Amino acid sequence: MREAGPLDQLIRAFAGLPGLGPRSARRIALHLLTSRDTALLPLIAALEKTAESVKICPVCGNLDTVEPCRVCRADGRNRGVLCVVATVADLWAIERTGAYKGLYHCLGGVLSALDGITPDRLNVDSLLSRVVQGQIEEVILALSATVDGQTTVHYLTDRLHEQPAQIKISRLAHGVPVGGELDYLDDGTIATALKSRASL
Ligand SMILES: [Zn+2]
Repeated sequence: MREAGPLDQLIRAFAGLPGLGPRSARRIALHLLTSRDTALLPLIAALEKTAESVKICPVCGNLDTVEPCRVCRADGRNRGVLCVVATVADLWAIERTGAYKGLYHCLGGVLSALDGITPDRLNVDSLLSRVVQGQIEEVILALSATVDGQTTVHYLTDRLHEQPAQIKISRLAHGVPVGGELDYLDDGTIATALKSRASL
């Protein structure tokens, strides 16, 4: 087999991205190579800048160029409400609705027996220590209505109930279809689900 050249490597890298297959990877690579000044070079610059400046927020797990992230440091947010999400994509999806003004905690995934995702692989301890620290009055478990998402909701509910602090625990309600991934829902559906959340 011949050694993969830089072009093959590029196509392979694109094909490994979410939502892209080999065909779209080839189209993107070709577009970049034929539009060097308007597409390829600006993309290289944007990637370099992003790699240098984007960090994981040590408080909530969001991605931002400042530490703590802009959500955590923003004035006027309700510091008594914590919205637990699986991924940064879900955090951004809820932020886009503009319907939520509390803080977040990104788990980094959901429990999955199939994929071997156990509680110690998720940001559960940091969630519990944020709750123990006091200020939090309500935790909203904004997890997908999938089997793994709901297993995680039950697990976290149990762990949160073990805490001495009296906190309200709620989950997303109407509007989230069974099997629905949060990131794919429209803003209105997410906003409705947040407003009509149910206590646990
Ligand atoms: Zn943050």
